[in-house]
Amino acid sequence: MQYISTRGGTLGQFSDVLLEGLAPNGGLAVPEHLPRLSTSELERLRPLSYPELATEIIGLFATDIPRDDLARLTAAAYGGGKFSADKIVPLSDLGDGMTLVGLSEGPTLAFKDMAMQFLGEALEYVLAKDDRVLNVLGATSGDTGSAAEHALRGRERVAVFMLSPQGRMSAFQRAQMYSLQDENVHNIAVEGVFDDCQNLVKRLNTDLDFKRAHSLGAVNSINFGRISAQIVYYVWAWLRATDSVDAAERSTFEVSFAVPSGNFGNILSGHYARSMGVPIRRLVLATNENNVLDEFFRTGHYRPRSSANTLATSSPSMDVSRASNLERFVFDLLGRDPERTAAAWHELEERDEIDLSAHLERFESEFGLVSGTSTHDDRLATIREVSAASGVTIDPHTADGAKVARAHVEDGIPMLVLETAKPQKFADLISEALGTTVQPDAETQSLLDAPQRVVEMPDDEHALRVYIEEHALQA
Ligand SMILES: *Cc1c(COP(=O)(O)O)cnc(C)c1O
Repeated sequence: MQYISTRGGTLGQFSDVLLEGLAPNGGLAVPEHLPRLSTSELERLRPLSYPELATEIIGLFATDIPRDDLARLTAAAYGGGKFSADKIVPLSDLGDGMTLVGLSEGPTLAFKDMAMQFLGEALEYVLAKDDRVLNVLGATSGDTGSAAEHALRGRERVAVFMLSPQGRMSAFQRAQMYSLQDENVHNIAVEGVFDDCQNLVKRLNTDLDFKRAHSLGAVNSINFGRISAQIVYYVWAWLRATDSVDAAERSTFEVSFAVPSGNFGNILSGHYARSMGVPIRRLVLATNENNVLDEFFRTGHYRPRSSANTLATSSPSMDVSRASNLERFVFDLLGRDPERTAAAWHELEERDEIDLSAHLERFESEFGLVSGTSTHDDRLATIREVSAASGVTIDPHTADGAKVARAHVEDGIPMLVLETAKPQKFADLISEALGTTVQPDAETQSLLDAPQRVVEMPDDEHALRVYIEEHALQA
């Protein structure tokens, strides 16, 4: 399988795009063509365990990794007790025609573990093959950084330098990251806000000599390895939701998915699963008050907002106003034409907007994509309603998904709501919604009490350079 840039040109194979999702011409890496899963192929996959299914699905994209090696990588990622549910991704009933897809059973209690655990294994494998090292430099306001650290901790060829805003994360988020004692994990608490952290990363990344000299890289949401690993759980959830359907009907039995969205990474994987032939009726995109994507899918106008115009909400991992993966969907929308895609992003640079309203009707009819916005009050009400209907407590991001999902539930079509985080991570909001104080369980309490390992740093590029020079792994 060859990879191409959404703006033209070839990029190599899976291993080549794993370290850099961004093409030199500014486009994103996508497979040259999407593999297809026939109905008989889908039935062949039904009895497989989660790691086995991951080998089959990721193997369609990672054709340059021998099957036995890939099976070892997926076994290490999804076996070995890193996920607390036996099935890795359990499904449970939420009432009102909705089913929860449990994507948050991994070490950081958020769906990012699903992709990051695989990426950690795959990165080490590819680096060992080429005898290389990688120093991952990133900025986080919470979930991504901790999922990356937990996936890369203790690895020999990778070090992580993760900037986080001092005093801006919850006690739980801090504990999840800063309690890691591994030598290769460097937590750097910057005196500033998330944008300051992000800017420091950007400035170092534009210094190409420094970047090369210290083998700097990223594991952000445009990474195609992450996208491919996320496709697995769409197939898995469809299989589990149709296990009890009559054998004669189940191979074409449709389900819908509701996806709490920010960078359009999670739902892009759903779009790929649907394009590959998984019987998915609707992909319901949910945003919070930062509803750039909802506006896009309702009007056809993509108008990203500046960070100054991005609100801090109670579903903070969705506080995104520039969806880094959207270009991959637009590439498909525009008939996989690199010139039209490049022109659209040129328009974005010129006018801060892309007008795709001529395609508005196709979003739903051809791609099954519908969308909606959920607010703070919606989150609170939905957490309460779901708790009353099913006894399940959902986190605020999943609540955004469930709120928007509810408007799109159809008779006879299971609505699968993706659980993007566990409620323990957001105890304050859960207390506000349910009117009870959530006492941390024993595991959470020992995490909160664990010694922390973090370096404090001013918002200063020079200080960061010096720190990296002193601590980066050498090629
Ligand atoms: C990252 C994240 C999201 C958004 O996912 P995207 O792939 O960026 O659309 C939603 N909820 C939680 C809890 C997350 O961590």
